[in-house]
Amino acid sequence: VKRIGILTSGGDSQGMNAAVRAVVRMAIFRGCEPFLIHEGYNGLIKGKDMISKASWEDVSGFLTTGGTVIGTARCTEFREYEGRQIAALNLIKTGISALVVIGGDGSLTGADNLRAEWPNHIADLLKKDLITKQMATDFSCLMIVGMVGSIDNDLATTDLTIGAVSALTRICEAVDALQCTASSHHRAFVVEVMGRSCGWLALSAAICTGADYVFIPEDPPNSSTWEKKLCTELKNRRDAGKKTSLVIVAEGAVDSELNPIKSEHIKDILTTRLNYDTRVTILGHVQRGGSPSFYDRYLGTVQGAEAIEAILKADASTPSLVIGILENKITAQPLKEAIKLTKQVANEIKNKNFSRALELRSTSFLN
Ligand code: ADP
Repeated sequence: VKRIGILTSGGDSQGMNAAVRAVVRMAIFRGCEPFLIHEGYNGLIKGKDMISKASWEDVSGFLTTGGTVIGTARCTEFREYEGRQIAALNLIKTGISALVVIGGDGSLTGADNLRAEWPNHIADLLKKDLITKQMATDFSCLMIVGMVGSIDNDLATTDLTIGAVSALTRICEAVDALQCTASSHHRAFVVEVMGRSCGWLALSAAICTGADYVFIPEDPPNSSTWEKKLCTELKNRRDAGKKTSLVIVAEGAVDSELNPIKSEHIKDILTTRLNYDTRVTILGHVQRGGSPSFYDRYLGTVQGAEAIEAILKADASTPSLVIGILENKITAQPLKEAIKLTKQVANEIKNKNFSRALELRSTSFLN
């Protein structure tokens, strides 16, 4: 019977639990044995009680719960070869030959590294007498399937990541609440949302709340003119009768010279140049909290099911895969390529090739 391990790693996001539940139940349905690995890679390295066989009932209630019930962590030991070797030993001792990882690009890269080094780990563990020859033969290959849990929607090659829609929903609710008080006092609000190198949350929130201005990392404004342009734009709208102003800023927003665009700085501009009563709201971790929207329950569930199918179809020559969604179809694509493209977008921004960054993003959401 095939044993499949599942863990969540890195930052949490709504819908991760739905994915864990689907992996467990689909695995059982397809005659496999699922194992929950608690607290991300920390649990994989600690072993013992941190890795437990999962029953159908163990994941009941997961579908509607936010965060990740099995826990997540950042694990420095797993970044080192030695740490990954202990993880390999614990996998082999538990009899796990396929690992499903739900996390961001860091977590998925870590899993892919473990797989790439697998033959070395097997050879080392044999040499150290920590595994038998039979174990080495039985576990000659580790299959990796990733799913992306990220509210930022920052992975290339997928239209949406698990958690992004819930976070956007939460942002819209929060901004709607701010708009009431803004209009009562004729205030301006600067709302900062998450997204270090990806402006999807900020841009989508701006569209969905009717914001007056938005700053995203992929489309930085001219460093010498943006402040004046912002003031002109907001003033024109007030002159046309609007009582409030709303500016949405991604946390990673920059200008064309890569200077960070900070919410407090925007507030100072609006206060001193336009004399607006301006408040800053940084939504922070509220965006990650609460129960998942219908879409993340759906996405986590169908992707979790696909992860099991991908494992059952794989052989030793199958590369590590990442499950995504493109044009409403669930996809299983090579993990390495998806991460390479994702890193490329961030690099194009750093190198000030903004149009190229936008073009690469447009493969996933701006088209
Ligand atoms: P995310 O998965 O959300 O991008 P991180 O980048 O913090 O979050 O990664 C989460 C964990 O994944 C790290 O604490 C580490 O254990 C593991 N990890 C990240 N990058 C690597 C890497 N290059 N090699 C091995 N493990 C990694």
